[in-house]
Amino acid sequence: MAEECIFCKIAKGEIPAEKVMDTGELMAFKDINPVAPTHILIIPKEHISTLNDLPPEKSALVGAMMIAARDIAKKAGIAESGYRAIINCNRGAGQEIFHLHMHLIGGRPLSAMG
Ligand code: AMP
Ligand code: ZN
Repeated sequence: MAEECIFCKIAKGEIPAEKVMDTGELMAFKDINPVAPTHILIIPKEHISTLNDLPPEKSALVGAMMIAARDIAKKAGIAESGYRAIINCNRGAGQEIFHLHMHLIGGRPLSAMG
């Protein structure tokens, strides 16, 4: 774990979060500053700074994050209306927390990307 990483602290239970899922390798919790009625963050418990730092042999982790997003969307009742599952990589894409995470966003119409 990275010493001062806020998402590592959430993964270890050292900082509270509104958890919606917890498995051996992943955790999902509500975003503290939601941009849509459903805004969930899905993280690996292991510290990986960005998508660029994910070793190819750990690529299954991102598949598991995507399946978690799909399942949480279904539970949240937005699977049919629509949702977006995205990873911001580095500052130019808006990444502010350097612990790999996927945003699950939905519950309102989403505009085009860009
Ligand atoms: P990003 O800009 O992709 O790095 O996304 C970071 C996200 O983490 C933002 O949407 C923040 O609102 C969210 N966030 C920051 N601190 C917390 C926290 N303690 N609990 C839940 N979400 C957080
Ligand atoms: Zn971390």
